[in-house]
Amino acid sequence: MHKESLTIVKVGGAVLEDPQQCSSLLDAFAAIEGKKILVHGGGRTASTIASQLGIKTRMVDGRRITDADMLLVAAMVYGGLVNRNIVTWLQALGVDAIGLTGADMDIIRSHRRPVVNGIDYGYVGDIDHVDADRLSMLIDKGVVPVVAPLTHDGCGQLLNTNADTIASEVAAAMVEIYDVHLVYVFEKAGVLGNPDDEASVIPQICASELDGLIAKGIVSGGMIPKLRMAVQAVERGVENVLITNISSLATLDGTRIIAG
Ligand code: ADP
Repeated sequence: MHKESLTIVKVGGAVLEDPQQCSSLLDAFAAIEGKKILVHGGGRTASTIASQLGIKTRMVDGRRITDADMLLVAAMVYGGLVNRNIVTWLQALGVDAIGLTGADMDIIRSHRRPVVNGIDYGYVGDIDHVDADRLSMLIDKGVVPVVAPLTHDGCGQLLNTNADTIASEVAAAMVEIYDVHLVYVFEKAGVLGNPDDEASVIPQICASELDGLIAKGIVSGGMIPKLRMAVQAVERGVENVLITNISSLATLDGTRIIAG
């Protein structure tokens, strides 16, 4: 049976924080034909607002700990400010957007991450289930979901959840219904072979090459979990997975992740 195409775009913190890049991203997203979903992060905005409120950001091994105060900020900033602004701007561009967290319509269930190697990440959710049917109910009506990086455990607890992971899990769940294309948009033109050279975009990465790229130090930091999520999406049947910047969103240049 022929499946309709669905484009899922994930946009990261650095792009959202820069008003000019954010506006270009939303223009480019609005121009995408057909069914689509936008998943957004929030990154540093939450840390900035937390510090304005006198709440300290606790980090372990470069990862933010979501204690009760930080969850409050994440809910306000990601589920509130950032999500509402994106929806408002998309509506102005003629996109019939609806803002959602994973708790809305029970779209994304997760469980609180257990303590790993003595590290308690706090109120962080690892995803158990994405309700593809309920999401498709909205999409098939022409509505465009804008998903914040928050999920819930079904027992009354909202949980902070990595936006790259949400994009990968939503994409994999939607494969049953649509021909899914997943695009990770960040501030660089793709995965770079040399972090100091913007022109060194690696056009294609095979799943089996990832560990070698990490071992050689070619990919590091936030790019490691992003690539792992990209590989997971490919392995779970997502048709196309691309890591790119805003200007390549229309041309679909950048780094393509392939199975094998
Ligand atoms: P996002 O903006 O989507 O939240 P992250 O900040 O989590 O993304 O991860 C992207 C970051 O990964 C980039 O800003 C860059 O500093 C870093 N990075 C590490 N290695 C590479 C690489 N080889 N190519 C491109 N970016 C890389």
